[in-house]
Amino acid sequence: MSLNCDIVKDLVALYHDGLASEASETAVKAHLKECKSCRDYYKQYRLSAPSLEKLNFSSLGNYGELAKHMRVRRLWMLVAALSYVSASLCAFVMLLMRMRRK
Ligand SMILES: [Zn+2]
Repeated sequence: MSLNCDIVKDLVALYHDGLASEASETAVKAHLKECKSCRDYYKQYRLSAPSLEKLNFSSLGNYGELAKHMRVRRLWMLVAALSYVSASLCAFVMLLMRMRRK
């Protein structure tokens, strides 16, 4: 089965993470061998996208790492939310002060 380049580009992410079906994997591999444009695309994709293994999603043993990552992200979301609220509060207080002056 030969695939066209657009289909290969759609499948590259699944192929890269080892989630593609065996048939898709074989077809993508064969296409990458003969198509330079898709090979370059895949090279670029590999550089830009972290693999599942690097993110440690694949093994439950590294769940702690993921949990820590999520905690840090949650903390940053909290910081962002707090700064938004305090900025809004400042704007509100300034508005009140301006209204009192009149
Ligand atoms: Zn191609």
